[in-house]
Amino acid sequence: MIPLSTSTLKTESWQRQLADAFNRVEDLLAYLELSDRLEPSMKVASRSFGFRVTRFFASLMEKGNPDDPLLRQVLPMAAELEDTPGFSTDPLEDQAAHQGNGLLRKYHGRALLITTGACAINCRYCFRRHFSYTEHLASPTRWHSLLRQLRNDVDISEVILSGGDPLSLGNSRLGALIEQLQLIPHLKRLRIHSRLPVVLPQRLDHGLAEILDGCRLPASLVLHINHPGEISTELVQALMPLRRQGVILLNQAVLLRGVNDSAEIQIRLAEDLFQAGVLPYYLHQLDRVRGAAHFAVEDERATTLHQAMQTRLPGYLLPRLVREIPGARSKLALPLSQNE
Ligand code: SF4
Repeated sequence: MIPLSTSTLKTESWQRQLADAFNRVEDLLAYLELSDRLEPSMKVASRSFGFRVTRFFASLMEKGNPDDPLLRQVLPMAAELEDTPGFSTDPLEDQAAHQGNGLLRKYHGRALLITTGACAINCRYCFRRHFSYTEHLASPTRWHSLLRQLRNDVDISEVILSGGDPLSLGNSRLGALIEQLQLIPHLKRLRIHSRLPVVLPQRLDHGLAEILDGCRLPASLVLHINHPGEISTELVQALMPLRRQGVILLNQAVLLRGVNDSAEIQIRLAEDLFQAGVLPYYLHQLDRVRGAAHFAVEDERATTLHQAMQTRLPGYLLPRLVREIPGARSKLALPLSQNE
């Protein structure tokens, strides 16, 4: 991800907190009373993909626990430096799906906009950890031609704001983009994919709620929560205004070895999400990005885990277990044989 430059940081408190995030692995480990766990390879790994963790997300971790599931998602590891066959820098072939101006087309009716390369937290398994944002960014200087592209393609009914994390944009920039999007008559829905509220709930501020409330396009917010320990009281409270105004709240998680690869954790996640007013949407098999092979769970084990969830959860709380295959016309449900 592209680090947020301090020059773009405004005075809003969530932006001050972004500026105050941990950006050195040794500082996070010291905060967690785990300084003795620091290894030189962690610093090497964080040179190839930057280290970034908000203090709020760190506050949800258990001090003194090197196996904390939230810590494992953000801690650079020597394993990231290994080159594993089948793991590439562009696992979903995003670059091939790029149609210019930061617009990606993969599935019928939907257009995904890479609105920013910045994130509040750098997840070590991120499938865009090697993505070249500067060349594939829907930056304001490209909005004019981007909006023309969208206007000219009447097959697009839904726009997905992605990144990076689209909520790392300030409200004025986000509002200006959404204002333009809603003027395109054939657009019917707006979707925002974001992990930012999880790691910094204050981002769900009044200004954002107003933007979505004033938008003619029905909106959904797809959160990225992998573990029940990420559902904080602060997050639940911050989601409340959006729930009240009818924003559809969904979650997509990634199945990660050593983090959430048990039926018990996944069942708890689904139940806690519902309590927070969020429906489990997808449980993704890891995208095979270089540097993240140590997080992979075999398809067979993932399927068994999902079947165990199915026996314990009502259908509306069971996320779809899927894998994204480049070039496929939709995400594919596991086991993959059922798609043949
Ligand atoms: S998974 Fe999402 S929040 Fe995490 S680094 Fe990637 S884009 Fe950013």
